Amino acid sequence: MKPMGAIPPGFAAGASGRLAIGGRDIEALIAEAGDTPLFVYDFALIRERVLMLRQALPLQVGLHYAIKANPMPKLVSAIAPLVDGLDVASEGEMRVALASGTGHISFAGPGKRDRELEAAISAGVTINLESEGEARRALSIAGRLGLRPKLAVRVNPDFDLKGSGMRMGGGAKPFGVDASEAAALVREILAAGAEWRGFHIFAGSQALDAAAIAETQRQTIELAGRLADQAGATPPLVNLGGGFGIPYFAGDAPLDIEFIGRKLAEALENKPVSLAQSDFAIELGRYLVGEAGVYLTRIVDRKTSHGEVFLVTDGGLHHQLAASGNFGTVVRRNYPVALASHFTAEPDEIVNIVGCLCTPLDRLAEQVRFPHAEPGDVIAVFMAGAYGFTASPGAFLGHPAARELLVDQ
Ligand SMILES: *Cc1c(COP(=O)(O)O)cnc(C)c1O
Repeated sequence: MKPMGAIPPGFAAGASGRLAIGGRDIEALIAEAGDTPLFVYDFALIRERVLMLRQALPLQVGLHYAIKANPMPKLVSAIAPLVDGLDVASEGEMRVALASGTGHISFAGPGKRDRELEAAISAGVTINLESEGEARRALSIAGRLGLRPKLAVRVNPDFDLKGSGMRMGGGAKPFGVDASEAAALVREILAAGAEWRGFHIFAGSQALDAAAIAETQRQTIELAGRLADQAGATPPLVNLGGGFGIPYFAGDAPLDIEFIGRKLAEALENKPVSLAQSDFAIELGRYLVGEAGVYLTRIVDRKTSHGEVFLVTDGGLHHQLAASGNFGTVVRRNYPVALASHFTAEPDEIVNIVGCLCTPLDRLAEQVRFPHAEPGDVIAVFMAGAYGFTASPGAFLGHPAARELLVDQ
C-alpha cells in the first residue's frame, strides 16, 4: 500500500452518498457538462481563499492572480474583481485577462515576441521585462507606436526560495535580469521616457515552508531597496512574487499564512527608506485555485494483473499530468483520490487507478486503499484546480479534451 494526500476541506457527500461539489451532485454536474472526464472548479472555495489571505496579509500588500495556474476564462473573470491584478505569461493569457475587464495586468515570461510586446503596449499592459534585449525592443516598438510603455524590471535574485518545488531564482536563469544589472536597466528605461512600474522578483514556487517564504520576502524587500538606491528612483510597485504551495501529498501540511502575514508586516515596517512610497504585491497561482478543483473520470474497466487490481478510467495524464507524477516532481506520489460515486464507502482493497493512454506513465493512483469500485463508477482526483487542463499534453493519443465547469453557490 502507498499513502495518498489528504482530501482538501470543502468536499462532502450529498444525500445520494455521491460526492457533491459546490453543493451539486457529481452526476448532475457530469450531465450538465455532457460527459466525463470533467474538471469542476468550486468558486466558493476560491472566494474563501482570497478572503482568508486578505485577512492574514498586511493591508498594503496587493494580491495578484497568476492566471497560468488556471486560465479558464469564466474563472479568470470571476476572480478578477476579487484581486488587485492579473499576471499573464503570453498574449493568449493577456486576451483572457483583458476580457475580464480588469485594468491591472502585468505580462511576464521569457521570449516575448515583437507582436506580443506590441499588443501589450497597445493595451496598456505592464511588461515585466526579462532582459535588456527585450527592454530595447519594447522601447523601440513603443516609439514606433507613439505610446509610452509601462515597463517593470523582473530581477533574477541572488537567492532562491528554499524548499521550493520549482526554483525560479538564484544563479543562471532564463528569467529576469541579474540583480547586478537591474539598476542600470531602470536608468535606461527612465531615460527613454517610459513609465517605469517597478520591480518583479519571483524566487520560486510550491513551497510549504512558511519560514522560508517569509525569509524570501524579507530578502526580496531588502534587494528591491538596494536596487532602488542604486537606480536613484522609487519603484511604484514591488511585486514580491509568490511561491505559496498547497499540500498535495501525504505528510504535507498546509501553509501557515498567519505566520507569513505577521512576518511580512514586520518586514514592511522595517523596509528600506528608498521604498517608502512604493506599493507591494504578491502573485499567487496554485494557492488560489488548486484545492478548489476536482478531476472526475469514470471507470471503464476493472481487471487484475499478477494479483493487483487495476481500475482503468476514461481520463489520464493527457488531462491531469501532474497527478501522474510527470509534471515537476522527481518521485511519483499519490494525489488524493476518492470513489466519488460512493464517497463515504470504506476502503476494502488496494488498487491502482490508471488512465486510458497506452503508456505505463499514465497512473492516477498507485496501490491506494480504496472501496470496491466497478465500471461506471466515478473517481475524483482532488487538487486539480491548478496546472491541470492547460498544463497537460491534451493532444497526446487523440482522445477528446476534458470538459470544464465552474460552479458557484
Ligand atoms: C507560474 C508563476 C506564478 C504562479 O506560481 P504558482 O506556483 O502557481 O503560485 C507566479 N509568478 C510567476 C512569475 C510565474 O511564472
